[in-house]
Amino acid sequence: MSSQTPADREGIGKRTSPLDTPIQYVKGVGPQGALLLGKLDIQTAGDLILHFPMRYEDRREQRKIAALRDGEKVTVCGRLIGCEATRTKNGRFLLKAFIEDGTGTLELVFFNQWFLKKTFAKLHGRWINVYGTVEVSPWGVRMASPEWSEMDEDDPAGSARITPVYPLTEGLYQKRLRDIIKNALALCLDHLPELLPADLRARHHLIGIREAMWNIHHPEDSGKLDLARRRLVFEEFLFLQLALAMRKHALQDEKPGITFPLDPDFMERFESALPFQLTAAQRRVIEEIRADMGSPRAMNRLLQGDVGAGKTVVAMAAILTATDGGYQAALMAPTEILAEQHYLTLSSMLEPFGVEVQLLVGSMKQKGKQLVRERLADGRCQLVVGTHALIQESVTFKRLGLVIIDEQHRFGVLQRLELVQKGLNPDVLVMSATPIPRTLALTVYGDLDVSVIDELPPGRKPVRTFWKREKERQAVYRGIDRLIAQGRQAYVVCPLVEENERASAMAAEELYGRLQGEVFPNRRVGLLHGQMGAYDKQDVMERFRAGEIDILVATTVIEVGVDVPNATVMLVENADRFGLSTLHQLRGRIRRSDQAAYCVLLCDASTEEARRRLQILVESDDGFRIADEDLRMRGPGEFYGTRQSGILKLRLADVVTDARLLDLARREAFSLVKADPELSHPEHALLREELHRRYHRLLWATVS
Ligand code: ADP
Ligand code: MG
Repeated sequence: MSSQTPADREGIGKRTSPLDTPIQYVKGVGPQGALLLGKLDIQTAGDLILHFPMRYEDRREQRKIAALRDGEKVTVCGRLIGCEATRTKNGRFLLKAFIEDGTGTLELVFFNQWFLKKTFAKLHGRWINVYGTVEVSPWGVRMASPEWSEMDEDDPAGSARITPVYPLTEGLYQKRLRDIIKNALALCLDHLPELLPADLRARHHLIGIREAMWNIHHPEDSGKLDLARRRLVFEEFLFLQLALAMRKHALQDEKPGITFPLDPDFMERFESALPFQLTAAQRRVIEEIRADMGSPRAMNRLLQGDVGAGKTVVAMAAILTATDGGYQAALMAPTEILAEQHYLTLSSMLEPFGVEVQLLVGSMKQKGKQLVRERLADGRCQLVVGTHALIQESVTFKRLGLVIIDEQHRFGVLQRLELVQKGLNPDVLVMSATPIPRTLALTVYGDLDVSVIDELPPGRKPVRTFWKREKERQAVYRGIDRLIAQGRQAYVVCPLVEENERASAMAAEELYGRLQGEVFPNRRVGLLHGQMGAYDKQDVMERFRAGEIDILVATTVIEVGVDVPNATVMLVENADRFGLSTLHQLRGRIRRSDQAAYCVLLCDASTEEARRRLQILVESDDGFRIADEDLRMRGPGEFYGTRQSGILKLRLADVVTDARLLDLARREAFSLVKADPELSHPEHALLREELHRRYHRLLWATVS
């Protein structure tokens, strides 16, 4: 396969490319199929072939019917010898079909697939291939809802191969999607442009795109699959790293960062205004940040520290360094509650220094937002605290010099950059309670310095965590009541219901009603959830902070950052529905004072994995160990939320397990950009074009 022929080059980007064929015109799709595929974000034939399998089933080893064992998942070939349709008691359409292979007969059962009756009638006497779970009973051998395919005359092995399993959406079946993707491949494969330069491919032994694309969907054997995957993963990493390299080049080499003036008496002045003494770790980290800010290089620093380590006060020192120099600062937080909380803390602490602080969140009234925008544009407001409302186009700054992102793993790299682009190559500080492996940090942020607060403020007691079953609920309530009698306050956390905020809010309201009405009639119970208005939320948080509420029933809106030191008790309902890191973040809310803190995880864990998670939390209070376990149990995509937010746009690559390829791709990308900063050489034209297609938003501000 020759790479980059003129025909290839003409093919891409033009409406005439088969890759751009709207999916409804791909064989086997049609208007109804197009709707289903739309739900998977698939619009064109080109998108279809990028819908990669999530796993594979090895069907090469076919089994004889007589040798099948109960419970195994296997492929069987047999001659179709009969078919009968009935209805079940509850009205479902039931189709039974029988195949035999000379050693025995296998019954196949299909539900509500009435159209199969006709199909099977036509196929009578022919050989078919079925794949599914075997059920052996005294009445025979059967397979319920197997996947099946007709055996191909030209391909005696039939579908006995490594078979792709694709992510689906409701109403779309594996076999149908498999056929559709095969049709799309037939349409597109010969038109796929080779994006990687030949010398680069030779250097890293990467196979061509057409071979890779075919084999990722239809691997002949596992060796071919590995080669295909390797090529495609490398390509994904290469584009990501090219985007980062070009950004870095454009930002750092052309525009120097800000050199903030440093007042030598700063630390003394700062500490004397605080209600507590800084820990040695906080002091060290502040010095690191200030040294960065005082240098002409733009700061790009990650501040790590477990929940409760005291990152906010470090952010405050950075903010003061910026405002002292006459610049503005912006702090972006992932939720309104957290933004409001930071706003309260920072405004009360910074106002004595003469710094004007404003809040900007989506749920504010238009008029209020407009006022803040005006004060940011003319420079009167020196610090703005907000949510992603900050990155809206209408928000402009007079002299934005410092950008701080709190709890970073909730934000995509794109959102971060959008805020950064509002400034004059501002310094950036990203704060996180989640330890990030070095490989991932490099992937997401490019070059990045790291500061760690590895020490908790003095006198902190670890949270004692208990796992209680449903039958112990009343005892748990009595314990909480005793602690409230001693003057403590409590959180009761109820989980998100199926990722649906409205349903969760209703569940929280119901729980609130029950707790106030029946369980704790003599205590003051409050309610906090994501569907409440900004004013109500703020009001509840203020009353809780002021001690006017004893028990706060809340959804996970309190997961990040909410800080009420007297709240030292937490009850988590249905704790098995939360991930490890979420639970650790949640209980971080009660590790805020020198009072003993108690966290109760209430649930009858249903799965082995849930039991393991709960056990880890009972045993350990160490954020690093917990992040580690979480990463291992869930994989990096879920863990960092990169999958949902699409930060990385990686379809196949895994930044942890493919770390070596990431490293190779990174080096290639940076040397490519070093040699040809704008990728303007003709042999890089395809790379450049594709790069813009994939990372347009990341690049628009810096690359013409
Ligand atoms: P996180 O790192 O989780 O964001 P915060 O910045 O919210 O933690 O700090 C947690 C709590 O600890 C806050 O109430 C804060 O005022 C307090 N705190 C921070 N630093 C110190 C310190 N050096 N000594 C005592 N309390 C501190
Ligand atoms: Mg915090």
